[in-house]
Amino acid sequence: MSEEKKPVICPVCGKKAKTGTAIDCARHMFGTGDKAHRDWVNAQGLSFIDLLIEQATTPGNKSYEILAEVIEKAQK
Ligand SMILES: [Zn+2]
Repeated sequence: MSEEKKPVICPVCGKKAKTGTAIDCARHMFGTGDKAHRDWVNAQGLSFIDLLIEQATTPGNKSYEILAEVIEKAQK
C-alpha cells in the first residue's frame, strides 16, 4: 500500500517544515518555542517544557517522535 505523503504544515503558524515531515515540524516547534507553539503542544495534552527537557537531557529523538505523532494526527 502506498499512501501519498502530504507535506506537513505547522498547525500553529502554517509553515512547511524543510523536508515536509512531521519530525521536522516537531523540530520547528521546539526551535520556535514561542507562546503560540507552546500553547498548541500543551493543548494536545502534552507538556512542552517536559518534552523540551527530555529532549535536552536524553539521547535520541524521543520527544520529536512523540510530538511528530501528535502533529500527524492533527493533520487529519
Ligand atoms: Zn510553526
